[in-house]
Amino acid sequence: MKNVAIIGAGPAGLMAAEVLAAGGAQVTVYDRMPSVGRKFLMAGRGGLNLTHSEALPAFLGRYGSATEHLRAAIEAFPPDALRAWSAELGQSTYVGSSGRVFPVTMKASPLLRAWLRRLDAAGVKIALRHGWTGWDGERLTFNSPDGVVTVQPDAAVFALGGASWPKLGSDGGWIELLKREGVIVSPLKPSNCGFLVGWSDHIKRHAGQPLKRIALSFGEHTVRGEAIISEAGIEGGAIYALSSHIRDAIDKDGEATLHVALRPDVWVKEIERKSAIPRGKQSLSNFLRKMFSLSPVEIALMQEATGGKLAALAPADLAKLINAVPIHVTGIAPIERAISSAGGIRFDQVDEHFMLRARPGVFVAGEMLDWEAPTGGYLLQACFATGAAAGKGVVEWLRTSS
Ligand SMILES: Cc1cc2nc3c(=O)[nH]c(=O)nc-3n(C[C@H](O)[C@H](O)[C@H](O)COP(=O)(O)OP(=O)(O)OC[C@H]3O[C@@H](n4cnc5c(N)ncnc54)[C@H](O)[C@@H]3O)c2cc1C
Repeated sequence: MKNVAIIGAGPAGLMAAEVLAAGGAQVTVYDRMPSVGRKFLMAGRGGLNLTHSEALPAFLGRYGSATEHLRAAIEAFPPDALRAWSAELGQSTYVGSSGRVFPVTMKASPLLRAWLRRLDAAGVKIALRHGWTGWDGERLTFNSPDGVVTVQPDAAVFALGGASWPKLGSDGGWIELLKREGVIVSPLKPSNCGFLVGWSDHIKRHAGQPLKRIALSFGEHTVRGEAIISEAGIEGGAIYALSSHIRDAIDKDGEATLHVALRPDVWVKEIERKSAIPRGKQSLSNFLRKMFSLSPVEIALMQEATGGKLAALAPADLAKLINAVPIHVTGIAPIERAISSAGGIRFDQVDEHFMLRARPGVFVAGEMLDWEAPTGGYLLQACFATGAAAGKGVVEWLRTSS
């Protein structure tokens, strides 16, 4: 029986462990944290969006320039297979109105518990509080509560994650360790992240309030959804969906301007007609609330865009503003608060089974590879699929290299 070390007990690493145990390997999963799957559990906090139900060609397109590198792994372990796997673990799934797929319980914890029981039954060992620190010759080295531990498995899978929410375990510290081996890594950047805006104190009072059912535009891209005003700027689903474009513009130009349509479903003519109705003695806020059901935060956003001179706008300009409120963003919110990270090990550094060319026998999976995707279940799907592919790659490599 061959020994395989997996480093990283997130979705990618645990999926590789499952495939490898089924393939007859003796598997040990190492993780630096005191418990497994912390980011996975965090993902379950607001409803675990496991995958998406859209047709596979559209699904694959969500990975942009990484599509071709992920295609084989996702086709081999597609969304339906992930749903079936979840159901086998007692967590059947349903498709939400947006096409996103969730476990019926909405949570990650029952799924993770059932999964760990299955891994345990398959003989997978888990070594917690083992932080990988590099190689000593051919041996992998770890810091553990008992001091330095070294192991020499027959093969290894690295699934060390990206760099968002580092307190959950993945902090991108592996980059320096792999660079020493000659592995080329694209810098990790925030993805599905918020942005910084130099808000006035007036709008900061509305921090935490949502802008609901808006259309958010940046350049040629427009998405429907929700955004949330924060003390430092703006975040939320619609912002995350455009975040790769906004981030790249800020990287290039240092700033970017987004436009929010507050009432995207109301005809322009109707907005113009209502804007032209005389306000009489009503305050502007009351008028906007009654005519357009605008909430206090939406009105504050319009005030912000006009430098507090909203009341002075001519009706035609007011009408235009309602569906094109500019927001000037000046920075990217820190990676510590991002849902995921872009960048990682470049695909030209691995073979078609995700084995590092610089370190034969070492495979990589999950968010540490150089891809990004919007929220909607695409992140977890790619982590599970690449974990499964790396696991299969190891089984094949062990078979042919011995
Ligand atoms: C708030 C939040 C909500 C999210 N919601 C969703 C969602 O609903 N749907 C979705 O698809 N995605 C979601 N995601 C993203 C998803 O959770 C991640 O993409 C996924 O967990 C990445 O899996 P992974 O296995 O590659 O890495 P991780 O889950 O990050 O696991 C990596 C593991 O490696 C360990 N590790 C790192 N370095 C070392 C080291 N040197 N030594 C030993 N161990 C180490 C870490 O402790 C960690 O346990 C969410 C993320 C966040 C932060």
